[in-house]
Amino acid sequence: MSYIGRFAPTPTGPLHFGSLVAALASYLDAKANHGTWLLRIEDLDPPREDPKASALIPEQLKAHGLIWDGDIQYQSQHSQRYEQVLVDLANLNLVFPCNCSRKNLANCNGLHHGNCHGDINQPHALRFLVDNKTVSFLDPIYGHYEQALNQVGDQILKRKDQLYAYQLAVLVDDHDSAVTHVVRGVDLLDNTPRQIHLLEKLGWPVPKYLHIPLITNESGQKLSKQNKAKALELNHPIINLISALKFLNQALPPADQQKNVESLLSWSIQHWQPNLIMPSQAGLLHSNP
Ligand code: GLU
Repeated sequence: MSYIGRFAPTPTGPLHFGSLVAALASYLDAKANHGTWLLRIEDLDPPREDPKASALIPEQLKAHGLIWDGDIQYQSQHSQRYEQVLVDLANLNLVFPCNCSRKNLANCNGLHHGNCHGDINQPHALRFLVDNKTVSFLDPIYGHYEQALNQVGDQILKRKDQLYAYQLAVLVDDHDSAVTHVVRGVDLLDNTPRQIHLLEKLGWPVPKYLHIPLITNESGQKLSKQNKAKALELNHPIINLISALKFLNQALPPADQQKNVESLLSWSIQHWQPNLIMPSQAGLLHSNP
């Protein structure tokens, strides 16, 4: 089976050091497996996006030598396909209209359980009816992970404001690009069981998942565009890549291989050992390099 991996940033802002770590891990894992590495911009939610980020992110990747294969994909161009999959799911009785407000759901911790038979003539979301079961998978870094789906409830696939939800779009796009391996931040570990469940309902293959630890700031928060993590600087790519390799607990190239990003990356591809990544927060960098 050939390996197809991807990096799928949400363009809420430019990439920061934490996103470089995720990009680098998915790139090295794909290339070490002689695979293809795709870039998909997850621009599903315009109000949350930074209009400049979709153009800046590919420039930041290029400056770090992380060159994707094929054309960049944009989720904003895939609405018709998402709609078609929603129709398929409706035909399988796996989605239902829901008019519930957050206030309605407050009594059950915001979780939705079971078909509420919403009125399709009123503004409604479309939710995926999850089974009452536990789904597990084996992550190479985090080990056995399981989750009872009633702890996440019925998932929104299309929002009341007509925007498609990440939970739907990520699966459709990974499937349509024949992605075999998903390497991403551990903040999405607890999304994986519900995604596996939906994939199984659709009868689509389940990719292999590898979640990598997150970088936190001084107060223990994930570095994120929301908490104003510093944008990745374009003029120190080697320093940034070395810091990212250290964070991933990888061997570092000898000095003569650190002269340019190409030699640094090709050495790192040959020496990539994902099993060395430490799952804990121990030894994390606590600030941007
Ligand atoms: N777009 C998501 C993010 O930037 C990542 C999605 C994924 O890798 O599944 O956090």
